[in-house]
Amino acid sequence: MDAVIEQVVGRRVWDSRGRPTVEVEVRLAGGAVGRAIAPAGASRGSGEAVDRRDGGAPQRGLDVRGAVAAVRDEIAPLLHGRAVGGEHQAELDAALVALDGTPDRSRLGGNALVATSMALAWAGAAAQGVPLWAALDPDATTVPLPEIQIIGGGAHAVGTLDVQDLMVVCPGAPSFADALDWTAEVYLAAGDLLARRGRRTGVADEGGWWPSFATNTEAVATLAEAIEHAGFVPGTEVAISIDVAASELWRDGAYRLALEDRALDTVGMTRLVLGWLRDYPIVMVEDPLHEGDVAGTAAFTAAVPPGVLVVADDLAVTNAGRVRALAAAGAANALLVKPNQAGTLTEALAARHAAAAAGWKAVVSARSGETEDVTICHLAVGWGADLLKVGSIARGERTAKWNEVLRIAEALGPRARFAGAAAL
Ligand code: PGA
Ligand code: ZN
Repeated sequence: MDAVIEQVVGRRVWDSRGRPTVEVEVRLAGGAVGRAIAPAGASRGSGEAVDRRDGGAPQRGLDVRGAVAAVRDEIAPLLHGRAVGGEHQAELDAALVALDGTPDRSRLGGNALVATSMALAWAGAAAQGVPLWAALDPDATTVPLPEIQIIGGGAHAVGTLDVQDLMVVCPGAPSFADALDWTAEVYLAAGDLLARRGRRTGVADEGGWWPSFATNTEAVATLAEAIEHAGFVPGTEVAISIDVAASELWRDGAYRLALEDRALDTVGMTRLVLGWLRDYPIVMVEDPLHEGDVAGTAAFTAAVPPGVLVVADDLAVTNAGRVRALAAAGAANALLVKPNQAGTLTEALAARHAAAAAGWKAVVSARSGETEDVTICHLAVGWGADLLKVGSIARGERTAKWNEVLRIAEALGPRARFAGAAAL
């Protein structure tokens, strides 16, 4: 009876962009507690679970008092007296989805649902007396390769760069801790380069440098330069990953590159990104084309050099059915797993399984609006993800995640197997 839910509390807390968000705390009869906070995206796919926001004037319409009330008035009574942990997670998540009753989770809110789903998982682990990653898979050994932002752009820097994320991965690093060390050197080298050129103005939403470039290509070139300045062999030791987040650029039938004051069609956009792949040490590209362009993404995937990961974010929105359809079309070969795109952990895990079945790599990812919540670190390890993407190596809501993975790797001890180059 210990692992039975006694109380579910909804709480209004704050995210890294100064916006309210939903925290849920699940208290069990035996005294164990699970707690989690919903993150929030800025460049959302249209197929994502929809957060419940209050609208109106307060907090620019983004308040979550309604979602918090839904936790108190509907979710808490639903869950009272039910068992958590292990196989119960799927039943609980299904009950949440049924209670919401909408295809896009908009009634209770994707924010209320994901915070509840994650808090339930934490409560189950706490009742067992183990960390969440171990509750998900006691035999987990894989520590993911970190994918870390160096320069922010797109919707995370009010469009001052069209490309949204310029990141690095360190396939040559011997361990997760070393990958962080190497990335920090590249981050500081990039900051020095920008400062020297009078282009250093601060950091964007995920902690990467705020972009101040004349062209998108200049940004990619600067990152490649920073890798060399930091003393690493580009490509093998430290390589570039780009999230184009092209859905954000697609308007009225064209990709609008505001920074360069030009519009590209699908062929032009494909050529631009393939040109970067030819000229710079890039090993991953996310959302190179907009979310509706499955055929274009398939053609892009067929055209990239062998070994390059084409990551589906907005295109797949952490949905198992979409992953299967994309894989059948040959569009992309890796999945970005964002639990709040799905709404519940069970649905996100189903997408992760669909990716594995298709032979895709899996990248567990945070959102641009984050908190100190570290649930995704445990999901990445417990679900055996190849990579983990949580923004830069600066700002507390980002370092909270990297630091948690350091702790998990330490707990795994000699069992830990760093994904490293095998993640790519
Ligand atoms: P978002 O973007 O969290 O702002 O939606 C992150 C991404 O596109 O990967
Ligand atoms: Zn993305």
